[in-house]
Amino acid sequence: MDKKEYKEIFIAYLKENGHRITNERILILDSALSMENHFDADDLYTKMRGDFIRVSRATVYNTLELMNNCKILTKHNFKGDRARYETQHGRKNHYHIICLSCNKIIEFENKTIEKSLLNVCKEKNLKLMDYSIQVFASCEYADKCSLTSQNCKID
Ligand SMILES: [Zn+2]
Ligand SMILES: [Zn+2]
Repeated sequence: MDKKEYKEIFIAYLKENGHRITNERILILDSALSMENHFDADDLYTKMRGDFIRVSRATVYNTLELMNNCKILTKHNFKGDRARYETQHGRKNHYHIICLSCNKIIEFENKTIEKSLLNVCKEKNLKLMDYSIQVFASCEYADKCSLTSQNCKID
């Protein structure tokens, strides 16, 4: 899906649910779709301010929730941390490992996991609808584990 299609989905969702379609919400959608990695509402708010886009913090918070409701974004609560979001735009299905010491988030893909879950559901006459997996670990090498480390990605 491209950004235009996400915009259409979002506008349709707002209409159906009686939310106003405002320029501010559309600007937030555009900015959120261009975010890389996992971000929280304040990250997006700060980025938009940096881009000289005027929005209110409260609108950023509730627009991200709306985008989560219509599945344009995925919301994660990593270990009691603030809610973080990530865009579905251009992303493959992936899982997260979080370091318990430095909160670094490592992404990985694994086709076997989904296959196993599909099989488990099938055996129990269930249809898999959604799932989320978070793995908690700690960095093996202390020098690679630090509070300042950014999200890193494994390809
Ligand atoms: Zn991710
Ligand atoms: Zn670590």
